[in-house]
Amino acid sequence: MDAKYCVAATGYQLNSDEVNCSLPTTRSTKKWHFFAPKVHDFVWAADPDYVHKVYTRTNGQILNFYYQENEKTENWKLLPKIIDTALVFIEKNFGPYPYKSYSFIQGGDGGMEYPMATLITGNRKLNSLVGVSIHELMHSWYQMLLATDEAEFPWMDEGFASYAEYETEQHLKRLNLIPEEKPDDIQFKSSIEAYRKLALSGVEENLKTHADHYHTNYAYGNASYVKGALTLVQLEYLLGKEVVRNSLLEYYWTWRFKHPDDVDFFRIVEKQANVELDWFYEYWIESTKTVDYAIDTIYKVDKNETLLSIERIDLFPMPMEVNVETIDGQNILYYIPLDLMRGSKKFVDKKVIQCKPWHWVKTNYSLNLEIPLHKIKAITLDPTNQLVDIDPSNNQIILKE
Ligand SMILES: [Zn+2]
Repeated sequence: MDAKYCVAATGYQLNSDEVNCSLPTTRSTKKWHFFAPKVHDFVWAADPDYVHKVYTRTNGQILNFYYQENEKTENWKLLPKIIDTALVFIEKNFGPYPYKSYSFIQGGDGGMEYPMATLITGNRKLNSLVGVSIHELMHSWYQMLLATDEAEFPWMDEGFASYAEYETEQHLKRLNLIPEEKPDDIQFKSSIEAYRKLALSGVEENLKTHADHYHTNYAYGNASYVKGALTLVQLEYLLGKEVVRNSLLEYYWTWRFKHPDDVDFFRIVEKQANVELDWFYEYWIESTKTVDYAIDTIYKVDKNETLLSIERIDLFPMPMEVNVETIDGQNILYYIPLDLMRGSKKFVDKKVIQCKPWHWVKTNYSLNLEIPLHKIKAITLDPTNQLVDIDPSNNQIILKE
């Protein structure tokens, strides 16, 4: 390489004592020698204006930052400490980063992932820089270590990276590490809204579509990034967050440095939760069918009992959570399992009334509330707003203001 240039790349530089970004040389060229174990791709970038900043984590891992130091990259100076904090959360929830270094390199046309490195453009607001940095870093898990075929399963690549990015950003916001950014009240709210728009757009294609063969870029992008991430959010709705987190760790340890596919992932989740998910896979991954549940009718049975009828309007069956708020301020949660799942969600942090399973072919379900009608203030389906119900307007009935 022309001696004026500083080189950044995938892997470990083996001759940094002789050749580096700050060492002057009288020679016209320099030879840079990098080594990367167990990678399936690599990147290198060169710029005469790069500065090379090194941040050493307490566990000895090295974070490299290569960028042009000017007013447009002011926020890059804040990145090392934020990434260090993010990595503590990431490694705990998604598995350890197994290499000794990772490099953030200014370059490219947005953000692009590579093994042990990423190319990111400069001139970004702090929240944008942090968001893209964490997204690309998460590809070290989803696509690099868990080397799924990204053309065949873009939703496992972009989707899982987007899910982990979101969870990590929420963690950083809760720690107040991104100024002026607050964590969301409703998790993945904007993703669920974006998915609804896609589902109603008429151009949605199913997640089995090869990345190159989506008819529109809109359908590709929303299926891969948004619906892909919501796969894990729907599994949280079905099975609880703890099961999904444990599944992602089990998936990591079972399949890292291998090439898992979608069935390998679902099998891990099924075993963690002791349920069957073939029906969910068929509707969510292989079809574009949608979820829409609604409160149908509510009436008084006698002075102690009320009957609630719930309707499945669209074809996609899901278990149902129903919150009944009483006039004296109690919230009672009912859980209706879906028979196809052959098991139930475990509610670890709340009390729940288990109901008989909903037989999936039936469009209606009657729930006996054992609460007098006049004592009910409101009834809400999907009270945590996690379900991808495409019409939430029919999910609630308010009886008393
Ligand atoms: Zn990505």
